Amino acid sequence: MNTPIDFAAPPMRILMISSEASPFAKVGGLADAVPALAAELARLGHDVRLVIPRYADTDRDNAEPIAGPLGIRMARGEYWTEILESCLPREEQTLPVRVYMIEHLELFGRDAIYARPGGSESGEDLLRFGLLCRAAFQLCRKLNWYPDVMHAHDWPAALVPIYLKTVENIRPFDETAGVFSIHNLGYQGVFPLEALRHLPLNPGEVERVGLEYFGRVNTLKAGILCAELVTTVSPSYAREIQQPEHGFGLDGVLRERSSDLFGILNGIDVTLWSPENDELIPARFDAEDLRGKSECKAALQKRYHLPAHADVPLIGMITRLVDQKGIAELVGPGYGCLPHLLREHDLQFVILGTGDPHYEQGLAELADRHPNMVYERMFDEQLAHLIEAASDFFLMPSRYEPCGLNQMYSLRYGTLPIATATGGLRDSIVDADDPSGNGTGFFLDSSNPSGIQHGVERAIATYHGEPAKLDAMRRRGMRQDFSWRHASREYERVYLRALQLRMRQ
Ligand code: ADP
Repeated sequence: MNTPIDFAAPPMRILMISSEASPFAKVGGLADAVPALAAELARLGHDVRLVIPRYADTDRDNAEPIAGPLGIRMARGEYWTEILESCLPREEQTLPVRVYMIEHLELFGRDAIYARPGGSESGEDLLRFGLLCRAAFQLCRKLNWYPDVMHAHDWPAALVPIYLKTVENIRPFDETAGVFSIHNLGYQGVFPLEALRHLPLNPGEVERVGLEYFGRVNTLKAGILCAELVTTVSPSYAREIQQPEHGFGLDGVLRERSSDLFGILNGIDVTLWSPENDELIPARFDAEDLRGKSECKAALQKRYHLPAHADVPLIGMITRLVDQKGIAELVGPGYGCLPHLLREHDLQFVILGTGDPHYEQGLAELADRHPNMVYERMFDEQLAHLIEAASDFFLMPSRYEPCGLNQMYSLRYGTLPIATATGGLRDSIVDADDPSGNGTGFFLDSSNPSGIQHGVERAIATYHGEPAKLDAMRRRGMRQDFSWRHASREYERVYLRALQLRMRQ
């Protein structure tokens, strides 16, 4: 895998399957990564297409139905779906990335991307995403377009490599390689065994592909076992998930596939996330001229009636409010470190996020008590850009982080990350005190409350005590290349290797 970057792969037909893809449907980073990778591969000359479900609030304005309904055979009969075709926005001279949306009102026509509480226990999501995966094959037949590689993302698409080794291990799919990407091992698609009744697999096939795990269905595990090759979203995370601490019970399965597991750091979509041409922020800036960044900070302070002090450190955070992101360590009653930081330091703290109701409530109560804290309980892309541009620091105290996108957005916007040294955070940030002198952020000693507190205090001390060092760190981070260019080349090599393995089966 050490081929030089100018290596050029022959053009391939690549079909990506995902439950999320911006701008159609987004919960987290998966939605950003999938279309950005697809677009970059298209730029390299590959014919890349994407299959996603069409949810109730997926915009269908620019989507055209393709002729006739598509019947998808599952265990309990046929499901009739409509297919809408759209395209990812693209640069001139790049091949279009066609996006096919599978429409089935009963199964996908709801607001939530994933099942309502209790939905997964009823096995409903296994049917929904089992159908999505089967539809991907049926769609290829309808289009008479057969991919060299089917690239499945996270557990909702794990049935793709599983079908490739069972019901779809037939012409013309017997030469199609399955590549499976783990974006977050914490979500495995686990269901009661009865839910298998939805899938078009017989008991022998279920056993052969290893779908059962400790008396339950585990789609992620079987996807890992069936794919020709498995990738995850950073080299450090690829190592961590093979250890019990971060393996979520699958570290043994991942060790079994160790030689077929590749960690490739995600890129970011620099057409959307670049301060020099970002239309969503009030002023633009770059590493040569940071005046626009100060304007953005002033605009955010004004919007939230925070004192308009240029020299008070502003810390931003944009996150799903779940345990993984270290929210308990910030606001857990009695032990979270955020109240102490807000009380003891002259800082401003702005957090945007939705998620677990008890975290939402904890943050809202804290913001009520502390005038130097703002909490926005909403999902707002534009505000996310403003926070990235306006903040001096960006806090990511994650317990684990497969890749993380916000630290890379932050680095581009001259906003220094304060983050746990884990997964993709470890791979994209260099600590301020690193002997190389190439610091771009601040690692926490640990992700527990005292580790977060010390990390924030170290960053504030540098802000006030060593402004030249801080300024150099900002500019160093802004000049780094976080585009998908490098990652897309690595995925090309993975696809070629997966194809060789498929031919040999
Ligand atoms: P994860 O995928 O675990 O949620 P990432 O850092 O990889 O974490 O990606 C999160 C993405 O979702 C980023 O693009 C982030 O800006 C965005 N995001 C999360 N919450 C919100 C929100 N409330 N409003 C706007 N964007 C959000």
